[in-house]
Order: sequence, then structure tokens, then C-alpha cells
Amino acid sequence: MSNEITLAGYSGSQVDLYENALLTQDQDEREPFSWTTVTADIDLTDNGLIVTNNSTSKHLHIIRAFVFIDVTTAIEFYMPVFATWTGTAVTGIPLNRAGINIAPATALSDANVAQANVILRIATNELTTGQHGQWVEFGDNLALGYHDSLAFDIVAESTAFYSAFIGYFHNN
Ligand SMILES: [Zn+2]
Repeated sequence: MSNEITLAGYSGSQVDLYENALLTQDQDEREPFSWTTVTADIDLTDNGLIVTNNSTSKHLHIIRAFVFIDVTTAIEFYMPVFATWTGTAVTGIPLNRAGINIAPATALSDANVAQANVILRIATNELTTGQHGQWVEFGDNLALGYHDSLAFDIVAESTAFYSAFIGYFHNN
């Protein structure tokens, strides 16, 4: 059963609000997106992928990332200080096809981003040049506020890679 709240209206009529109706503004509703790069020859000075939250009212939680690199190297995830970067635009694709379809975010591949706040270094675990892909799990811990970003760098020169960030927005 709903809890009923009765308010007196302007003309003396009554307006009934129901708790269930209020819950349609679910503070915890998730709006999930995937940002997936096409392969590119990434310069040493450029990054693989960066996603910046542009929403002043929603967190962006990146819950997992996929990275494939064709060289023996380290891969560094970091949270740079906000700036305006240029690169190849990556469109966020909504995973909930019934939800919002435009992510309030900017995503770029092959952008020159100054590295700061490294949160994770992983290696490709290859002794020689080979093909290596892996998933990275962040769980619910990684939360981006307004103009916060997550990015990754490929430390060695790679000629091909694939990557994706998967995350969701929710109201703060
Ligand atoms: Zn959050």
C-alpha cells in the first residue's frame, strides 16, 4: 500500500500525492552507456580513450573497461585535471534502449592528455609482441563528478588497439 499525503489545493480542492508517485523520480535510477573506440595508431603522447562527465547533477560511474593492445607494454588508467582536449570523438551508446539516449559526457580517443592521478597500472603479460586483451573491473567505486575524467595511456608505441568503458549515470 502507498502512503497517502493530502494537500489543500488553491481552490480548496484536495491534491493527493502518493509515495509511489514520488518514487518515479528514483534517485538511484541508472542510465548505462558504453564508449567503444575504433582501432587507431596511437602516438606515444596520445591516450587510448578519455571520458569526461559533463553533468552537474549526475555521477558517472565507470564500472569496467576493456583494453586490447598489440604490443608488450603497460596500460595506465588515470584521472586527469580537466582541460579542453581534442581527439577522435567517441559516441556513448545507451545500453538501456528505453532510457536516455544521449550521454552527458565527452569521450575522445587519440587525445593528448596530461597524465595525473594514476589509479591503476596493468601489463599486457606478454614477453614478446603479441595480442592481448583484458577486462578491468572498477565495481561501483569509481565515480566521476562534473568535469571529472577517466582515461588510459598505452606506455609503449602501439599500432592497434581496441577499448571500451562501460558505466552509468545516476542522480547525485
Ligand atoms: Zn554515484
